[in-house]
Formats: sequence, structure tokens, C-alpha cells
Amino acid sequence: MTKNIAVITGANKGIGIEIARGLGRKGFTVLVGARSEERGEAAAAELRAERLDARFLHLDVTDEAVVAAAAKRVEDEFGSLDVLVNNAGIALADGDWNTSELTVATARKVFETNVIGVVSVTNAFLPLIRRAEAGRIVNVSSEVGSLGFMTGDYPFSGMQVGAYGASKSALNMLTVSWSKELEPTGIKINAMTPGYTRTDLNDNQGTRRPEDAAVAAVNLALIGPDGPNGGFFQEGIEYFD
Ligand code: NDP
Repeated sequence: MTKNIAVITGANKGIGIEIARGLGRKGFTVLVGARSEERGEAAAAELRAERLDARFLHLDVTDEAVVAAAAKRVEDEFGSLDVLVNNAGIALADGDWNTSELTVATARKVFETNVIGVVSVTNAFLPLIRRAEAGRIVNVSSEVGSLGFMTGDYPFSGMQVGAYGASKSALNMLTVSWSKELEPTGIKINAMTPGYTRTDLNDNQGTRRPEDAAVAAVNLALIGPDGPNGGFFQEGIEYFD
């Protein structure tokens, strides 16, 4: 029996390595995407020590040539790709997250990783996902990208979330757009929010454990033919805005 193959971007730490671990435990060969060879190899070795089939995949989502080389390697080694998890992301702010202090340089950098990077990786791997029996794409987004959350009664709704929040709104809309195009193919693409999670992204101030935050992403990677397409989820709850 051929094993299912998953690529996870930014899988060397935080929520990404937990998504890789979760899919590895479900029997996937997990390709641990990381921009640093050292950090990526170390993460893959950590998972292999747990008897999971994990391999480092060099993947800087902001470098088109590196993305193309990663897709070529997956094509040469496996021929197709079952699951892509776009997890890599950055949160940067100028000043005290005041939107009026957001510089063009920061906005560009955040969008380059969180939005353009996802476009680049998804479109590079899509030809391989089309060859899979039941391709699945999961985009790791955030509730601070939800207009409904940020204008409603929500713990973070008083915050300004700058380019980071805007990048996740854009990611959600791209997810919806891809879902419409991919609907006839049986490929399913969904976005999810891990919730406020203890990782380097927020100096480990988050309240959730990365292993708990990864569950929704793993579940969305495993949905069957009747599963959702174009949704935005947290732990099985679907948000519509
Ligand atoms: P971490 O900072 O712990 O991990 C981010 C990962 O993304 C790292 O592996 C990092 O690699 C990688 N990365 C950053 N830039 C690139 C790039 N250009 N190419 C490839 N990889 C890159 O953060 P989290 O685990 O918290 O974040 C994972 C996802 O979850 C992000 O998309 C984030 O926006 C989202 N999220 C997180 C929340 C939280 O509370 N933590 C809440 C909502 C959403 P490196 O080690 O090389 O820097």
C-alpha cells in the first residue's frame, strides 16, 4: 500500500511541528517544510525518534525558486501529494500595533509570507495535489483575520491587528476562491484558526498548547468526500465571516 504524503510549511517548531506529528501518527509520510536546513533536519529527526516517517523539505515560502525546487523534489520522489498544510506565518508590528504606525516595509514583509507565500506554495504543489486520490489543503489562519470576530464581542476585538490580521483576512478569501475553482475536482481546501497558542509568535504568551491547536488542522487534512470546502474552522466550529 502506498503511504499518504503531507507537506507542512513552517513545520520546524510551534504549531507546525505538532501538525506534522499529528499527521505522522495518522500514518502519513510527513515532509517537514522549513527554511532552515538545521532547524528542519532537527525537527524531522525529533519526529523520526518517535518512529514517525518524517523528512526535511527545504521550503522558504518567500523564495519562488526554493518553492519550485521543493515541488520538483516531491514530484520526483512521490509523484503526487495528498495533503498540503500552509502553516508558515509571521506576525510583525511597528510601534504598539497602531495601524497608523505600520510601515510599508512591515506590511510588505507580513503579506509576503502570510499571503503571497501561500499563493506561491499552493500553486506550485497544486498539480501534484490534483494527482492524489483525495487532495486536501489546510490554511492556518487566525480569528483576528475574521471581520465578524474583530467587530463583535470577542476577547481580541478591541485590539488593532495590523498587517497580520489583514493578511489572514486575505488568506481566508483566497481559501474561498480556491475552493470554488477546486469544487469539481474533489480537492478540499479549508482555513482554520489554532486559537491563541503558546509559541514564539507571541513570545509564548498564548493560552493553548500547540498540540491542542494542531488538532483542527489535522482533522481538516483528513476529511472525507462529504467534508467541507471553503470553510473557516476552529475545533469543528465553522465561522462564516
Ligand atoms: P512560530 O513562530 O512558532 O512558527 C512559525 C513557523 O513559520 C516557523 O517554523 C517559522 O520558521 C516558519 N516561517 C516563518 N517564515 C517562513 C518562511 N518565509 N518560509 C518558511 N517558513 C517560515 O508560530 P506559530 O506556530 O504560532 O504559527 C504557525 C501558524 O499559526 C502561523 O500561520 C500563525 O499565523 C498561526 N496562528 C498562530 C496563533 C498563535 O497564537 N500562536 C494564533 C493564530 C494563528 P523559522 O523557525 O525559520 O522562523
